[in-house]
Amino acid sequence: MARTLTLLGATGSIGASTLDLLRRNRADWQVEALTANCSAIELASLAREFGAKAAVVGDESCLPELREALAGTDIKAAGGEQALCEAAARPVDITVAAIVGCAGLAPTMAAVETGGTVALANKEALVSAGDILKSAVERAGATLLPTDSEHNAIFQCLAGNDITQVRRILLTASGGPFRTLDAEALESVTREQALKHPNWDMGAKITIDSATMMNKGLEFIEAHHLFPVSLENIEIVVHPQSIVHSMVEYHDRSVLAQLGPSDMRVPIASCLAYPQRMETALQPLDLAAIGTLTFEAPNETLFPATRICREAIEMGGGAPAILNAANEFAVAAFLDGRIGFLQITKLVEQTLDRLSAQAPGSLEEVLAIDAEARAKARELLETHR
Ligand code: NDP
Repeated sequence: MARTLTLLGATGSIGASTLDLLRRNRADWQVEALTANCSAIELASLAREFGAKAAVVGDESCLPELREALAGTDIKAAGGEQALCEAAARPVDITVAAIVGCAGLAPTMAAVETGGTVALANKEALVSAGDILKSAVERAGATLLPTDSEHNAIFQCLAGNDITQVRRILLTASGGPFRTLDAEALESVTREQALKHPNWDMGAKITIDSATMMNKGLEFIEAHHLFPVSLENIEIVVHPQSIVHSMVEYHDRSVLAQLGPSDMRVPIASCLAYPQRMETALQPLDLAAIGTLTFEAPNETLFPATRICREAIEMGGGAPAILNAANEFAVAAFLDGRIGFLQITKLVEQTLDRLSAQAPGSLEEVLAIDAEARAKARELLETHR
């Protein structure tokens, strides 16, 4: 029997990889709902192709375009944040949570509250609201499958082992496109250079996060929430080839690693088929052709984002939500040409220095901290121009 699936963020990079896997195994899947923010034409075309029951745009002003593009079908079109949550709350076998940013938090929470299985790519949701999301998972009896390649690798390395026997988690990082530059060169890198990741083809926000190493910092926080290992036992190691997706070291000093091509279809497939495995159209890993795998320590002097993230999660309270919101604001400002590359991380750190918040107790409180942090980052950017 076909399994039912909802894809939040269908028009993005993770969305495209997920749909590619479905396309090759059409008979196995029934698509319930597909969502986007405002890419209405693309969303409608995907909804038609996959025979989705509903298509939803987060930005309500894009609903008329979606309605028009779906005319003559019985696909239900809807728009707005509430409609996204309603789509996410439809009962399905699996929801892929792949909206970018804190905008994905409420729909992800709605999916979790159905008690189903959620393949989580939307790391910002976990960074901003880790404890709240985890409590909701527990309350609803939901299953959270880590889709981020590193966390999926760790999840695979933990399978069949006892978490209490883990000594360290080794989170690998490509180091991004600017790994070998010095401070002077980093000062003048452009948006176009930052958008060219050496190994992965991803959406704009995560590509910039990879260049600043903020992505690895966010993943450090994500790992802390997903796996019950203390912060001192999560280490970041730079691995420029992105073949080893992360590792787990046990008390006996055995280190288990998960390897694979740098293609998100691998971890997504592992979530879609979990606990089984499914075929993918990917080429096998040719280690002889790759030849060399290298590892080095991260340079936190040039790329302080991982230190800032570690400090934010140690600080606790609302700090991770402030960090995430300030970073989303700063990345958007960099992409709009309003700030330089090095200012991204500086603006995040300044926002964290100026703002503090108690640990949020609800989704609404997280969103209030998020809004306050964006306003503070905007104020700092305007006063420091
Ligand atoms: P993209 O920018 O490619 O896609 C984002 C998706 O979210 C699009 O469908 C977009 O719709 C939708 N969206 C954006 N803003 C909103 C909003 N305010 N409300 C509702 N929907 C919205 O991102 P990625 O696919 O690269 O990343 C998605 C998530 O997965 C991120 O959290 C990222 O960190 C994580 N991730 C991504 C990886 C990758 O390889 N890409 C790897 C590991 C994790 P529209 O097209 O209309 O804008």
